[in-house]
Amino acid sequence: MEGPAWIQAAELKRRSNYSPVICFETGDPKRLWQLKDFLCERGEVLVYDPWMGLGRLDAGRQFQAIKRSSEGTALERTFATGEGGEVRHLKSALREVDSILKERRVSLVIQNLHENREWETGLCSALRAWAIDPAVITTGSSVYLVTPDVTSLLDPATRDLVVIIPVDPSADWERRTTIIDLARELELDVTDRVASLVAATSGLNLHQLESVLLEAYYRSGTFDLTDIKILKSELVKQSGVLEVKDPVYTFADIGGYDAVKSFIRRYIVNVLREPERARSFGVPLPRGVLFFGPPGTGKSLFAHALASEVNLPFINLLTENIYSKWLGESGHRMRDALRLVDKMSPAVVFIDEIDRFGKRGRVGDSAGEETSRVFSQFLEWLGRPERESIIVGTTNVPSLLDEAFLRAGRLDYKIPFLYPGPQARLSILRVHLGLVEGARTPRPPLEGDLEEVLVQEVVPGTAGFSGAELAELVTRARRIAFDRRARAVAAVHLLEAVGTFRVDRAERARAVQRYMAQARKFTDDAQFLRELGDELEGEDGGL
Ligand code: ATP
Repeated sequence: MEGPAWIQAAELKRRSNYSPVICFETGDPKRLWQLKDFLCERGEVLVYDPWMGLGRLDAGRQFQAIKRSSEGTALERTFATGEGGEVRHLKSALREVDSILKERRVSLVIQNLHENREWETGLCSALRAWAIDPAVITTGSSVYLVTPDVTSLLDPATRDLVVIIPVDPSADWERRTTIIDLARELELDVTDRVASLVAATSGLNLHQLESVLLEAYYRSGTFDLTDIKILKSELVKQSGVLEVKDPVYTFADIGGYDAVKSFIRRYIVNVLREPERARSFGVPLPRGVLFFGPPGTGKSLFAHALASEVNLPFINLLTENIYSKWLGESGHRMRDALRLVDKMSPAVVFIDEIDRFGKRGRVGDSAGEETSRVFSQFLEWLGRPERESIIVGTTNVPSLLDEAFLRAGRLDYKIPFLYPGPQARLSILRVHLGLVEGARTPRPPLEGDLEEVLVQEVVPGTAGFSGAELAELVTRARRIAFDRRARAVAAVHLLEAVGTFRVDRAERARAVQRYMAQARKFTDDAQFLRELGDELEGEDGGL
């Protein structure tokens, strides 16, 4: 029996005598069974589990508790003789197996450990001793530690002496096999859907996959793709750090911003749609983009639309949670999250307020150290050439951004988002009134043709408004019409809604100057800047 790739990788290391102690990083119970199946084929397998104590696996892979023998050398010991008590504690278990590992070839699997109280258990000392013990090496014994987080169990000195193998949650072929086998068991015909199911469940481990499939089956009697995507997002969300969404907005939902749209189409969308052709022309694949500008100017909306234009999943990396909720274990959270992102990629990864990463690292306090560790982990990941995700970071304060983000290969393009000019405002209002073909906003009943009032009065009256404010303006007009029991939304309702806003135009004009100055620092694409300026300033001379 060859075993899956991750076991083979371990075997190779073991055969080269690098170390007889191997740590598999996984939390998937299915992987544990795969390992035990593999080891049982080869010979004697001992297992330590904090709940069940020390035991051995019998021919049927069942756990049989080992009783401590009262006397005699380990060689003479016979297990399960009933001579002594069961070996429950890790420390006793390690002592008990120590001589066995050196005397005959056995595999010891240590599972389900969630914390390491070294002073009580001696786990690290035992592993370090075995890792370099010639007797253990020559008998061919091996010790396998299976845990989702090696770093929290083993100190750096121990980690240096053992083999650490991160185990993939699942490979495409494994998910395909699981899906087909389970469908067969449940007598479902999913032949036409297998490929989409395999794609939609990337990033899940085999245990999660099975539970998601079963839950979908109990909900609707089949493996419904939409249900499965929802269940997967719920699972991923439990990590507290990631959110997966199927992007719903497209460029049709975005009014105006033609210069930005065409920039994104040219440099990102078109390249991602034909990556092979782009490669053959030596056109680089986009890896990251920064959207910066004042609040409510459509940065998140553009990120969603970008994901749907290239037909990729949209992953939201909730940086706020990484820092606030799990201080002390953020490094581990971050690493797991990034690994999961890699598994689900290619995808668009959205990082709102990416400047949070850069500004918290205060030297001297432990929170600051933790933050800078997470930050460097993140930067290292951003710079990895094999990363297949496209990062969309946003910020309102680009000046706070760490220089390191802006280096090549991380956030390649920096696009300013400013307050919309008259033409763009008209388009945004039309989107939110449901007047644009293909946009998602439903059209309310409208009184007559509102085009004229929009062009003549609403657009001039809203200079300096953000897209979010224009959307809110339409919502207010709808509400006014509804409250008045009007038959439809009319010009008066829109005009009344305009009057409910208070916008400091002078302040906004200053903000635009600041962001434009920043844009000039970031890019030397003069044509893009000109187009952007035209769209922003338009006829009413800016603000
Ligand atoms: P923040 O910096 O506060 O996160 P943001 O720039 O990401 O803001 P969004 O969240 O994308 O802004 O915009 C908020 C809402 O404003 C959108 O959901 C949308 O309804 C509306 N909006 C903004 N810009 C546009 C636009 N160009 N076309 C249509 N709607 C827009």
